[in-house]
Amino acid sequence: MKTQFAAALALTTLLMASSAFAQAESSAAPAAPAAPRAPPPPMTIMEVKPNLYFIVGGGGNSELLVTPNGALLVDTKNLNDKDYGDLMMLIGSVTKEPVKVVVDTHHHADHSGNNEKFIAAGAKVIGQENMPKIFEHYTTRLAPHTPASPTTLYKKFLRVRMGRHTDARLYHFGPGHTGADTIVYFGKQKAIAFGDLLVEDPTVPNYDSGNAQGSLLGLQHSLAEGLKLRWDVAFPGHGGKPLTHAEVAAYKAKIDTLISRIQASIAAGTPKDKLIESLDTADLGWKIGGQFWAPPERVDALVAELSKK
Ligand SMILES: [Zn+2]
Repeated sequence: MKTQFAAALALTTLLMASSAFAQAESSAAPAAPAAPRAPPPPMTIMEVKPNLYFIVGGGGNSELLVTPNGALLVDTKNLNDKDYGDLMMLIGSVTKEPVKVVVDTHHHADHSGNNEKFIAAGAKVIGQENMPKIFEHYTTRLAPHTPASPTTLYKKFLRVRMGRHTDARLYHFGPGHTGADTIVYFGKQKAIAFGDLLVEDPTVPNYDSGNAQGSLLGLQHSLAEGLKLRWDVAFPGHGGKPLTHAEVAAYKAKIDTLISRIQASIAAGTPKDKLIESLDTADLGWKIGGQFWAPPERVDALVAELSKK
């Protein structure tokens, strides 16, 4: 944790956050086996490129682009007043511009939670067109109720102009982490927000199959397409620091390896209930299993997808 924070500090200009970071470090007590869960670290904001900020904590990561014509926010964090309040306080610490545009990277409530509050404040909230359908059957323990759907939908590509020289380009390269993913590309700043298509290593890749319509092959494809754009900083949906192009390429290469191994295991006749444990991923630094990989319905979807062709 400490080295991660140190890297983030070295990599970026940090506004606001020095006391928050100190608090996070001092509250990290030595690990005790039966200790109660540590409280989440406080939300922090860092300027990664001129006028482009990375906001960590309170659910999924957010990004903020500040322009003289208003601010654009990517993802609205957990649905609750505390995280919304912290988010607005941090935004207010770097700009007086109102948030005029919100982009949802996907429907999960740790990313879209406070949509309703931004809509009530007059912001346009943009999401991929499959989001409302997915919300219809969405249940989660992350939020007291389903977050509000976007007010503006797009299908595959949308350019959001924030003035003559600044824009954000929204790409949907098909199902991946969910069936309604948006990648946000900041061309002028050479930066890209992947939402949960990208998480900081060693977090295992997560695609939400079933009602959310995610796909592991689609996740691989979306990362490959995002890697083709010109950028040098990537924002993961979870994790404490921005990533380089080489780091994202390395993460994608590990996903390629993982997919090959799953396909080989299926081809070798491994029964479904033994598939996940058959995967040796120690060299990748990943422990494949848990809530994202082990549930039988997830394994069914995985086998169905990777048995094709
Ligand atoms: Zn997610």
